[in-house]
Amino acid sequence: MRDSLPVGLEQLLGAAPRLGPLARLGLRTVGDLLFHFPRSYEDLTDLRPIAALTSGALQTVQGEVVEMDTRYLNDGGFVVSVVLNDGGPRSLEGAWFNQAHVTRRFRYGQRLSFSGKARWQRDHWQMVGPRVQILDPGVDVSTPGIVPVYPLTEDLRPDHLRPLIGRAIDLHAPSLPEVLPEELRQRHGWPGVLEALRAVHFPSSLEAAERGRRRFVYEELLLCQLALALRRRETRDRRSAPVLAVTEQIDARIRRLFPFPLTGDQDRAIADVCRDLASGRPMQRLVQADVGAGKTAVAAYALLVAVACKHQAALMAPTEVLARQHAATLEGYLANSRVRRLLLTGALTPRERRAALDALKAGEIDLVVGTQSLVQEGVEFARLGLVVIDEQHKFGVQQRARVRRLGADPHYLVMTATPIPRTVALTVFGDLDVSLIRELPPGRQPVATRWLSEAERDRAHALLREGLEQKKQAYVVCPLIEEAEGLDVKSATRTYEELRSGPFRGFRVGLLHGRQDDATKADAMARFRAHEIDLLVCTSVVEVGIDVPNATLLLIERAERFGLSQLHQLRGRVSRGAAPGLCLLFAQPAGDEGRERLRALLRSTDGFALAEEDARLRGVGELFGSRQHGAGELLVGARDAGLLDVARRDAFALVDGDPELRREEHAGLREAVWRRYGETLELSEVG
Ligand code: ADP
Ligand code: MG
Repeated sequence: MRDSLPVGLEQLLGAAPRLGPLARLGLRTVGDLLFHFPRSYEDLTDLRPIAALTSGALQTVQGEVVEMDTRYLNDGGFVVSVVLNDGGPRSLEGAWFNQAHVTRRFRYGQRLSFSGKARWQRDHWQMVGPRVQILDPGVDVSTPGIVPVYPLTEDLRPDHLRPLIGRAIDLHAPSLPEVLPEELRQRHGWPGVLEALRAVHFPSSLEAAERGRRRFVYEELLLCQLALALRRRETRDRRSAPVLAVTEQIDARIRRLFPFPLTGDQDRAIADVCRDLASGRPMQRLVQADVGAGKTAVAAYALLVAVACKHQAALMAPTEVLARQHAATLEGYLANSRVRRLLLTGALTPRERRAALDALKAGEIDLVVGTQSLVQEGVEFARLGLVVIDEQHKFGVQQRARVRRLGADPHYLVMTATPIPRTVALTVFGDLDVSLIRELPPGRQPVATRWLSEAERDRAHALLREGLEQKKQAYVVCPLIEEAEGLDVKSATRTYEELRSGPFRGFRVGLLHGRQDDATKADAMARFRAHEIDLLVCTSVVEVGIDVPNATLLLIERAERFGLSQLHQLRGRVSRGAAPGLCLLFAQPAGDEGRERLRALLRSTDGFALAEEDARLRGVGELFGSRQHGAGELLVGARDAGLLDVARRDAFALVDGDPELRREEHAGLREAVWRRYGETLELSEVG
């Protein structure tokens, strides 16, 4: 929508262009301006004389400025006050704290309207920081109406922005294309483009504004879901992939390799995978599992099926540390097998790397483990059957499009790092089939999570020491590597120095962070795994996937700096063994949201519940994965989650009935989908 009006803003601004403030909001074209939607609305329809004000409710008053002054407070601050009178017995004071510029905006005798919540102050009414409208002389606004509240920068005022948007609507909105087919608009009762834009920016009621906004949200979601439906057709339904069929014998042979029986959920995920692998169509499956539920075993099973069926299989991990761990795990399972294995990391010399790539290309390797480097140019396979992408929360559709170019249509299995909110599952991963693993392996002990105060630091150290003395291991996670200037954040390096010379003298303390070279990282991890290190001070490099069951103690510094799912991931590091884990948090959250996030972590250890809670707390468009799709910010909020299902159903039904959107009534949709997603989703340009 926004991109269908690339007309520069100079045109609208006339004689004195003030593009700067608009550009700071990212507004460059008429399209940008029309789709700069209000953050919220204020209902200023309750207009009253000052004498009829009541306390508490949002009310609007019109009057004349009879007094302006500035009072200084004991704490060095000041209050600017502007007093209105409307001819009645009482007056209304507008009060602003520490905002000198307020007085400059108004003058004596000027007619203003104040909207806000009033409170009675001894002998007059007061509104703190009321919304002000300057009324033209002689004109009374009988209904001030519903006023949109825009995201603004300091140098752009609403009374500048609104006329500009009004002009943009009058001049340009009528030429916007109607993308939604008549049938869908009727079915859902959506207003047309022009009507909806007017309702959003100049609403006659809150309901009309909301209906207008939702029309555009629906449109965004529909386009996104159409793109996903089309991509799914292309990557799955219209392509073929090797038939990798599991016989009973293969199944039994693979299961024997695991040192444990699989859980029910692992078995169900494996059954899904096996069905896909044997279907002749490329598998496009997402395994969503809670942290520690045992995704690796599912991945290993799938990889070994491919190898048993005489195809090559690749496992991609997000970091070198994790790639090594997976290689080691597979090594353990396959110690006596003839499966030819390769670990492709940055640590190979150029010569070793070339030899490895030659072997892959010649088909002399069955199973390769690596990082993103597996999708680099120059990596070719003889007969790639399966790619497993492990521990991803950010491996969106675009990145997968890149992997697809690896070779001729292998099967794909994507594993999330933590459960993701449903909204993300349906957008970022919306072209995939999903298997869930909620069940944890038997015998797991819960992790006790505690948020400690600074005064309890010594006690925290004592708790860790106690654990270490019982031959357990511990992580101490810090948000930064080195001390950042001006930021009082505990760095890993400094903490490492402090702990090993102070409270943990006599224990073996190690350091692991993202800026070490790969060999140093690998060494630290290997020593921790071998229990040659008792306590590992690290950054969130250990966030993902690290599996050391003997490590059951975790201390997180400045926990407020991590996201909720990241914290859940981190905590997952100490819930892998049979002994109960302990997770200690130090945090200084600045706002309510930060506090809520930490409380959620204390309350629940269920990753699926935490993912939804995280979505609720953050609650905005980014969650819907627009970033990953490169489509710019969607105008979508958490309250629109229900619309996502509606749009998804409509989109998949549309593509079922009209697989390439060739019908005339779908021309607008088709155009919009390809413009927005054609490239990033590699939709083929048919027609
Ligand atoms: P994640 O799903 O977080 O990647 P992992 O695959 O690393 O989890 O598994 C976590 C731990 O659970 C590992 O130590 C693994 O050996 C163990 N595990 C996995 N499946 C089972 C099972 N069915 N029974 C017992 N332990 C298991
Ligand atoms: Mg894992």
